[in-house]
Amino acid sequence: MTVNRLTRRLSGDDRIELFRSVREAVGIPYFRVMESATAPTVRVEGADKIMLGSNNYLGLADHPAIRQGAQDALDRFGAAITGSRLLNGTIDLHLELEAEIAAWHGTEDAMVFTTGYQTNVGTISAVVGPGDLVVVDSAAHASIRDGAALSGATVRTMAHNDIGDLERILGEARDDAGATLVIVDGLYSMEGDIPPLREISDMCRRHGAALMVDEAHSLGMFGPARTGAAELFGVHEYVDIRMASLSKGPASTGGFIAGSADMLDTLRVHARAFLFTTSGVPAAIGASLAAVRLIRSEEGAHRARRALDNASVLRTGLAENGIDVGALSPLPDGGSTATPIVALHVGDDVVAMNLWRLMFDRGVFASAALYPAVPRAGALLRLCVMASHTDEQLRRAIEIISESTAMARV
Ligand code: PMP
Repeated sequence: MTVNRLTRRLSGDDRIELFRSVREAVGIPYFRVMESATAPTVRVEGADKIMLGSNNYLGLADHPAIRQGAQDALDRFGAAITGSRLLNGTIDLHLELEAEIAAWHGTEDAMVFTTGYQTNVGTISAVVGPGDLVVVDSAAHASIRDGAALSGATVRTMAHNDIGDLERILGEARDDAGATLVIVDGLYSMEGDIPPLREISDMCRRHGAALMVDEAHSLGMFGPARTGAAELFGVHEYVDIRMASLSKGPASTGGFIAGSADMLDTLRVHARAFLFTTSGVPAAIGASLAAVRLIRSEEGAHRARRALDNASVLRTGLAENGIDVGALSPLPDGGSTATPIVALHVGDDVVAMNLWRLMFDRGVFASAALYPAVPRAGALLRLCVMASHTDEQLRRAIEIISESTAMARV
């Protein structure tokens, strides 16, 4: 009986049918097998591709200093810690990493989780609960939505980057309601755009709402100290919960929260996704520590600049070939910035997968983002540059993407 119900639930789902039919017809963009390190070019199933589908924005995944950090931790602590942070899973490298992150962000304290996903789920579900209000951007990452749903708080969605909508939602919140937490990304992973953080921060303060910014994709990239988009907008001191992943720019695995000592102690006691999971492997902690130190150095500054320059080269080259790469992200001083993520909007899922395949066959590995990573009928090809892409690789990628786009009639 139970099995029958389960079978009914697992069949007849149009997304599963689409997945199966495209897998058979053209080969899907998912679960492809990488045969080399994540670098500007990667070996995928026997052929070299220019990698434009990785979050390795700073090009650190195969950097000797990061490898060494991982290797030293592996040699000292072995392959695994085999326990939670709470019990036997805290090593001195965690404390060094947390102290380094807190000093970097200028916060009282910081705490490292096993993954960025767990960081969001554990934190949000610990700091708000029934009777509270959580406002999330419609493009917020799944881990933010999942944490908000798990918390039991009322969840409202604001239209993407829409300050007017945020004002309306905050204005409607009853005065006698509990806490209000607004959560936005510093850099949206699919659209590649930065939210108007100054207005969002001002509005939160006017309405007495707390603000959490997920800097998963902006850490290491923006701001004088490269702590993320909030710093670029000069509002980092007003962000109550500063979250980031260690799995993208820092090229390791993990996530962290930086903030007040009180909040971090609350998480140490209440964040179930922190308490009830095994600590990250020593190599990940060692790599994270080496990466954070590198990002804070002159080399980090150079790599961030290079990634943004590469993004501008890619955007300009595609735009010159008539491809819509969207607008630059506006900055509070009236200027604007490129980001390492360039979204090619396609709309239809099958057209997007076909375009992915055309690029793949010609030597570019990109990411195809379909629902639920993006809204229904909002399929897009996500192109991410790395600091380590060469001019020649970008030139060739522009040629391939332009040719493939013309063939797919996007
Ligand atoms: N937040 C955002 C905005 C993300 O894009 C991601 C990962 N895609 C996460 C959190 C989760 O981080 P991790 O991959 O380290 O679990």
